[in-house]
Amino acid sequence: MAMTFNPNADISGNKTSRRGRNTAIAGGGVGIVGLLVFLIGPLLGVDVTGLVGGGMLDGEQSSQSSGVEEMAQCDTGEDANTSTDCRMAGAQVVLDDYWSQHVDGYEPPQLTIVDGQTSTQCGTASNAVGPFYCPPEQGVYIDPSFFEIMRQQFGASAGELAQLYIVGHEWGHHIQNITGTMSDHPNNGTGADSNGVRVELQADCYAGAWLGDVTTLTDDNGTPYLQTPTQEQIDDALNAAFVVGDDHIQKQSSGSVNPESFTHGSSEQRQKWFTSGYENGLGSCDTFGGNGADL
Ligand SMILES: [Zn+2]
Repeated sequence: MAMTFNPNADISGNKTSRRGRNTAIAGGGVGIVGLLVFLIGPLLGVDVTGLVGGGMLDGEQSSQSSGVEEMAQCDTGEDANTSTDCRMAGAQVVLDDYWSQHVDGYEPPQLTIVDGQTSTQCGTASNAVGPFYCPPEQGVYIDPSFFEIMRQQFGASAGELAQLYIVGHEWGHHIQNITGTMSDHPNNGTGADSNGVRVELQADCYAGAWLGDVTTLTDDNGTPYLQTPTQEQIDDALNAAFVVGDDHIQKQSSGSVNPESFTHGSSEQRQKWFTSGYENGLGSCDTFGGNGADL
């Protein structure tokens, strides 16, 4: 396995939690309002609201004991290289380090690893919904089994750097929330030129900017958390950006492309903005552009 984290990097300061199948599901009526999902597509064809009432995913045992589950012990980069949960926890540490250097008064979001499903202020989190950011609670939710769905349903490589790109994208939404970008550019519907698409492409760019700078971020001992990504790993991230492009998903599900219903941008755009951030940094992430950025 290609290494992403330096094995001896210290990620023990992570504050990632895990909850899911043992958490009591709240009653309905929450609705999926205001959440920023990583993609909209066939996965959302499931009746997610139906799950809010307490439905269980296939093969799951009903359990009413509630509470936060024990998160795996994630102390080192080696843990992050061997456990997906710890990779998410490690990403949280490195993302907080990066953004605390770039946003005055940065306050980190809460990262929750979802096991099966769990209720949030933005509706039920599960691998069917995919990773998302919930603005009112400043929370990022990721069920790592989503990466397996990406492989099986989308033919994605969904390797380590792709996973980090996805976490970085959700962090990007948190940055947009706390810096006012979201409130300055409220949701004005779908479409290739919509605020929603511009928000999503900027989150891709933020993820790229973080990964482009990632080798400068070190633990307290001066050990870089991550190793310089290989070209193969960059291609892995670009592959993820490709498969979640609106046009790609639309072609897969309906056979045609309708830019008026775009919510996240095309495959080419998602790759372009990730690359822009990766190569040119945060300064290249203005997808709103004073005089109309060329998306
Ligand atoms: Zn998003």
